[in-house]
Amino acid sequence: MADIIQLLPDHVANQIAAGEVVQRPASVVKELLENAIDAGSTFIKLIIKDAGKTLIQIIDDGKGMSTTDARLSFERHATSKIRSAEDLFSLNTKGFRGEALASIAAIAHVELKTKQEQDELGTQIEIEGSEIKSQEVVVTPKGTSIAVKHLFFNIPARRNFLKSNNVELRHIIDEFHRVSLAHPDISFTMFHNGSESFNLPKSNYRQRIVNIFGGKTNEKLVPVEEETEVLKVSGFVGKPEFSRKTRTEQFFFVNNRFIKSAYLNHAINAAFEGLMKDGSHPSYFLNLTVDPKTIDINIHPTKTEIKFDDEHTLYAILRSSVKHSLGQFNIAPVLDFDRDKNLDTPYDFERKKVSNPTVEVDRSFNPFQEEKSPSKSSSFSMPYKKEPAAQWESLYVGLESKGTKSTQEFREVEFESQPENESLFKENSSIETKQRTYQLHNKYIISTIKSGMLILDQHRAHQRVLYEGLLKHTMRKEAISQQLLFPLQLQFSSSEMELLLRLKEDLEHTGFVFSKFEDTTIEITGVPVNVPESEVSIILEQLISDAEQEVPDSNFSSTDLLAKSLSKSLAIKGGQSLSNMEQEHLVNSLFACKEPSVSPTNRTTFITMSVDDFDKKFM
Ligand code: ADP
Ligand code: MG
Repeated sequence: MADIIQLLPDHVANQIAAGEVVQRPASVVKELLENAIDAGSTFIKLIIKDAGKTLIQIIDDGKGMSTTDARLSFERHATSKIRSAEDLFSLNTKGFRGEALASIAAIAHVELKTKQEQDELGTQIEIEGSEIKSQEVVVTPKGTSIAVKHLFFNIPARRNFLKSNNVELRHIIDEFHRVSLAHPDISFTMFHNGSESFNLPKSNYRQRIVNIFGGKTNEKLVPVEEETEVLKVSGFVGKPEFSRKTRTEQFFFVNNRFIKSAYLNHAINAAFEGLMKDGSHPSYFLNLTVDPKTIDINIHPTKTEIKFDDEHTLYAILRSSVKHSLGQFNIAPVLDFDRDKNLDTPYDFERKKVSNPTVEVDRSFNPFQEEKSPSKSSSFSMPYKKEPAAQWESLYVGLESKGTKSTQEFREVEFESQPENESLFKENSSIETKQRTYQLHNKYIISTIKSGMLILDQHRAHQRVLYEGLLKHTMRKEAISQQLLFPLQLQFSSSEMELLLRLKEDLEHTGFVFSKFEDTTIEITGVPVNVPESEVSIILEQLISDAEQEVPDSNFSSTDLLAKSLSKSLAIKGGQSLSNMEQEHLVNSLFACKEPSVSPTNRTTFITMSVDDFDKKFM
């Protein structure tokens, strides 16, 4: 049979990649602003015409590029910011993928002028749809100017998909706010259709916020400062009486990068609990600093989602520090620290009640009686009960059985039907009933398989299981719902309602029952069986934020989006300890899935290591 596979030409590959990086003019603004910051600029000017549809230009006074680099910068995967995969774990630049300029040049007319400090003259390059039109030597000041014209000139479908100028400009301003808030030490100006929209001189953080959001903002800011081993929080929250109907003043920055997190947003809302009117949202401008090793920002091409190693702890710290600030400034009526236990303890300490390990002593044991123990060391061995070497597992018996008892107090019902577990701890020698799975660091589940060992990531595995289940239910439109005792009312902005409305039918197929869905109010009378009522609002917020991230025209499927989002919210997290039964159940459910090897977002769910692999290690 003839060969039919071909490599795509670069300009086609670039155009495809551009779909991920550039969704609208605001995405270009974001990428170019970030490049200017990475270049060490102290002054950055943004010029926009017709909401970016005609022109987006960014002029900076950063380090500029050499002629060779200027040319190279438009190549795919051309970056000066990382050299090896390890660099990804200590990123202090915004960019690192080397895709932005290549993608933008694939779908627009780009004119670049750049000069390095030490050079007499600079370089000018014109490029249209990945094709270099001209390259010249020019007189230009130190720094870089990039003008992007006729965005999507060669993809009419995309161009037609752009929203009205008002909407696109709003998105551009949002990006401008995010970037300029993260960098008060850099001056920014923005011009739209010839008039100045923002002039932000270098300043401190409070001043930057006030310059952007107006003089009246000053009196409403309450400082938040907290430093712990894992997280440093600094910034401001708005006093509750100034809370707003919209969420436009909500900003999280992690290591100077704007991020969206419904989960952390929930932590702030929780801190404001009881202080806010229904349907209003607190303002916040918070900078979180964490060890770059503990986050993964590579999860989404436009990089506003972040994955934290230990979200639960961040949640608790954030919530208590905001609460503390509100209390200190006499805003919260009482400073109470009796919080919802479930949210505060990152690990399920209840189930891990500490108990003294007991050691059983076999007083009749006499080491000298043993025929086969002539070695010197055995004569010095402690008088512990003799254990045959093959049953080393039983070394843990003393510890485990205590643990089980306290576990049982809490989870009586589930363990009643588990005589198997009981016998494990009563009868030392029962190898057949030994534990088949182990949990490592409350994060991975390890199990033996025929060929060796299986290690699965509990969070991702559970996501896969839930995802396939949800898809099945929504497809077949057969979900089981549990009725709430009291209807739950939630408030959303009108744009959020628009999104939710699109997903309403699918939500109903998963088990949600709505008794009201109008203006800015949703009333819920039923939820899917495994969804706790307390989590409904956080789940919907996550869903909205996921829907906002979605590229709307790339074979958008609301069912899939919903299943992905819900499975992410509902899956057991890393840090959660699981009983043996739960561990085994998860392993079995994962392998009953159609596609067990990856999570719904295409990340590895398990790895295996064969006995051969081990043998090699022990060579
Ligand atoms: P990334 O930012 O991920 O490295 P980009 O495609 O955005 O990729 O940029 C490619 C390279 O071009 C950057 O790594 C940088 O070396 C150079 N570059 C882009 N913009 C500027 C700028 N404003 N000033 C100096 N160098 C720049
Ligand atoms: Mg970049």
